[in-house]
Amino acid sequence: MNTRLLYVNILCLFFSGFSSTVPAEAVPGGIAIIDIREDARPQARYQGKQVMVTGRPGRWQAVVGLSLKTKAGLHRLQINSVSTDFTVTDKQYESQYITIKDRRKVNPNSLDMERIARDKQHIDEAKNTWTDREKDSMELILPVQGRISSPFGLRRFFNRQPRKPHSGLDIAAGEGTAIRAAAAGRVIKRGDYFFNGNTVFIDHGQGMITMYCHMNSIEVEEGQNLAKGEIIGSVGQTGRVTGAHLHWGVILNQTMVDPTLFIAGPANRKQQRE
Ligand SMILES: [Zn+2]
Repeated sequence: MNTRLLYVNILCLFFSGFSSTVPAEAVPGGIAIIDIREDARPQARYQGKQVMVTGRPGRWQAVVGLSLKTKAGLHRLQINSVSTDFTVTDKQYESQYITIKDRRKVNPNSLDMERIARDKQHIDEAKNTWTDREKDSMELILPVQGRISSPFGLRRFFNRQPRKPHSGLDIAAGEGTAIRAAAAGRVIKRGDYFFNGNTVFIDHGQGMITMYCHMNSIEVEEGQNLAKGEIIGSVGQTGRVTGAHLHWGVILNQTMVDPTLFIAGPANRKQQRE
């Protein structure tokens, strides 16, 4: 490996070049930020997937999304033709027990399973979107004003049965409350899914995609360009829910990561603990 070209720094990293700081947490469900001292824009890949690169000549940063399934230890990032290792530390997330009255939403029948498989294909297509669009900021705004009712990463039990961990952030708000685009981008998909209900995906470039679920109304079309903060629809309770809320997901290199990492200000990050 060519160490002269690479400067790797993982712990306590901040986006020094950006208007605000986005703290890196190289943990499952977090992000690793790797500095790259190359003149030409490098290509970065992690587990075969293209990774976001931001910055400017001589001061690039690869921003790697780490799935909740990531194991602690050394991980490998491919930068152009060289590879470099970075360390992921463990993180324990709390458990959450939820009772769902509609048992079909916990133990779907065979027809439901066919629909869930079709939904997954549709959702994966959205998650796999890549556009080169340059990013001058990683910062996102909370799409809904409301109480954080369920943080990212919770290990979940529905009607006492273990299910996938919580891969987004839940914001509780009254049905009909406006949902806003977390950053400028383009609507790449909208759909109505078994678990997620009415859903919108917005592509922000460089593999960053935001996902808005359980919506009541959707007020945007596929292909529509959006400014940061533009209204895309309203809060609802479609899909598998216990009440009206927005389930908000943030995707990097096809992986769901903790949305609060991109929210500016300590106040917003603290809300997570409520
Ligand atoms: Zn949720």
